[in-house]
Amino acid sequence: MFWLTSHVAYWTGLTFFALSLEKALSKSHIAIVVIYHRITDGDEFPTPLSELQRGDSVEVFERQIKCVRRWFRPSTIGELIGFVDGKDPVDSDLFVVTFDDGYRDNLTIAAPILMRLSVPAVVFLATAFIDTSNRFWWVRLTDLLQTVSPVHWDRIRAEVDWPKGLQPLVDSLTVGTWDDRRQSRRVLGKAFFRLELDQTVRLLDELEALTGTRGEAGMPMLTWKEVEEILEKGFDVGGHTENHPLLTRVSPDVVVEEVEKCLSVIESKVHVKPVSFAYPAGDHADEVVRLLEQSNFQVSFTARPGTISPGSPDRHALPRLYLSVESRPEILAMVLLLKLSKHVPSVILPLLRKSLGDFALV
Ligand SMILES: [Zn+2]
Repeated sequence: MFWLTSHVAYWTGLTFFALSLEKALSKSHIAIVVIYHRITDGDEFPTPLSELQRGDSVEVFERQIKCVRRWFRPSTIGELIGFVDGKDPVDSDLFVVTFDDGYRDNLTIAAPILMRLSVPAVVFLATAFIDTSNRFWWVRLTDLLQTVSPVHWDRIRAEVDWPKGLQPLVDSLTVGTWDDRRQSRRVLGKAFFRLELDQTVRLLDELEALTGTRGEAGMPMLTWKEVEEILEKGFDVGGHTENHPLLTRVSPDVVVEEVEKCLSVIESKVHVKPVSFAYPAGDHADEVVRLLEQSNFQVSFTARPGTISPGSPDRHALPRLYLSVESRPEILAMVLLLKLSKHVPSVILPLLRKSLGDFALV
């Protein structure tokens, strides 16, 4: 339905007309923050399951940035903070590009495009993974389900001491075909997502030991030298914890430790004081937000779709959008919806949240 409406509106010129009209008449402004993880050209993802780690394609990424940039002014994190403070009046709607986790392709693939288009960005670093080949748990799970043999899978189901409630789920999963493997990866990914990080890591250690499947390729993460290059290009870096736990699933002490360690590691490695933070998987709750308010970060981002108004009271629970649309008509329709949310937020914002949803993983 959205696809059809957006294409009709685009090809009849209605989208452009509405956007131009809104721009001419609007006196108030909003800011949006968009989320990306990996930007890839596709060649390095040869199997059906490895596609799950692909992120956004370079073509879609460039198209989205170009479309959004035409109607929102690219902004640095510093400008956004001024806007959130309500101190700096702006002459247009703003947008900030962010990348979570710290993948090397943010520098090698995304940065050249952004520089060509004069768009700044922030890269949120999970510091324990920077300059290592450590894999995030969801990548380990993908690697496992990509390579595990049916015989080993039977052993896994029978011999592993699965956490409470997981055994019936695991019993129902198979790895006979690529579709089975993909489905098993999805189901187990969701289940693991609800566990504590330590438990997930221990479980994956056990699964890998049982099956002998230890992904050798590692993760293409930034090195600290490459983080310096990112800074030299004029981009910002922010915090994304040290080990990437879900912060609502750990104790307050661990939240503080994860946040402070991340901040101090970035400061000691690249000699900048990051001002912004992104909750892993956008996962936050009031008590976690209160701890971030006491940290040295000035703003924190969730993955809850929405827009930011000047003087926002929720500076440590700011919304971000995952632009899940790919074609130009759809992207511009989304841009129009975002613009209209200034005028009728009670109608448009729930619609946006429904169509985009909170970002589910990582
Ligand atoms: Zn993340």
